[in-house]
Amino acid sequence: MSFHSSPLIAWTDKGLYCEAGGFYIDPHRAVDLAVITHAHSDHARRGSKQYITVKSGVELLKTRLGKKIEVESYDYRENFWLGGVQVSFHSAGHILGSSQVRVEYRGEVWVASGDYKRDADPSCEPFETVTCDTFITEATFGTPGFVWEKNLEHGRMIFEWWQKNASLGKNSVLFGYSLGKAQRILAELYPLAERPVLIHHTIHELTECYRREGRELAPTRDLKEKINELIFDQRLEGELLLAPPSALAEWKNHLGRYATAFASGWMSGSGAGFGRGKYDHGFVMSDHADWNDLNLTIEQTNAKRVFVQHRDGALISHLKKKGIEAHSVETLVSHQFAQLGGMNLSLL
Ligand SMILES: [Zn+2]
Ligand SMILES: [Zn+2]
Repeated sequence: MSFHSSPLIAWTDKGLYCEAGGFYIDPHRAVDLAVITHAHSDHARRGSKQYITVKSGVELLKTRLGKKIEVESYDYRENFWLGGVQVSFHSAGHILGSSQVRVEYRGEVWVASGDYKRDADPSCEPFETVTCDTFITEATFGTPGFVWEKNLEHGRMIFEWWQKNASLGKNSVLFGYSLGKAQRILAELYPLAERPVLIHHTIHELTECYRREGRELAPTRDLKEKINELIFDQRLEGELLLAPPSALAEWKNHLGRYATAFASGWMSGSGAGFGRGKYDHGFVMSDHADWNDLNLTIEQTNAKRVFVQHRDGALISHLKKKGIEAHSVETLVSHQFAQLGGMNLSLL
């Protein structure tokens, strides 16, 4: 029996790097070849020579990084080769075009999860469980308190809140991140909303990417356009406004009376302090796996070894107690990795 003593995917100052394939995954800086899990700005950064991402994420990536970037794309589950390494994308259920990256080399399979969630989300492809030897998992909500109810009817809850506010002559201002959360809200409202949702301009172009990918979303109108149509001291009334959290100051004066809400996983149990007092209402709606889904996913990958990214402390000790070998992603450097004992694979 022999084992690989250096990691197939290593942790470097530019992020996760697969030397055998010559590519980075979601690099923090400009590199030659960047495999991108999704278009959120902490994963997709400007300046790399060549990008590779899943097909349904190309438009979003270009909207974020510029139309002129060099992008190659593949379908989910389509194998492609980088150096001697076989690579494929598998849906992460996080936002439209989000992927886990499966990397296979000399009989060893690694999966880097990127951000993922398992809750139903009509705005993107559903999460796929991928078995592997080594799983690199995100852990945004990797603390036991972050657990939320599944299968909530978010669309109906938001719609009812909107209708109630409207009946009191109020506008409803719903804050959510402009990529992912905003479009998920629009997709959940699709069966219910007839009156257009007024969206902030930062959301508009990203929303059009979703529509071009065939996602069904509630009707929308540009908020600024609508405001420009108001005459004299006329104010908006009974509208639902969807905007990123920072945007309220810009158009507060046109609003008349309003109620606010924030849609986020941080509105749940342990995170409730985040929004307490700041918003009139909170919708627990996360684009990341909660504590239970992190654990379920790790078990289902069948990985012999798990490396944890972000907020790793609690999850690592919990996995160890369950008998799963777990480490921080920062141990994916050769000298430390060799001390872990390497993979027990009877190959090479
Ligand atoms: Zn993300
Ligand atoms: Zn992220």
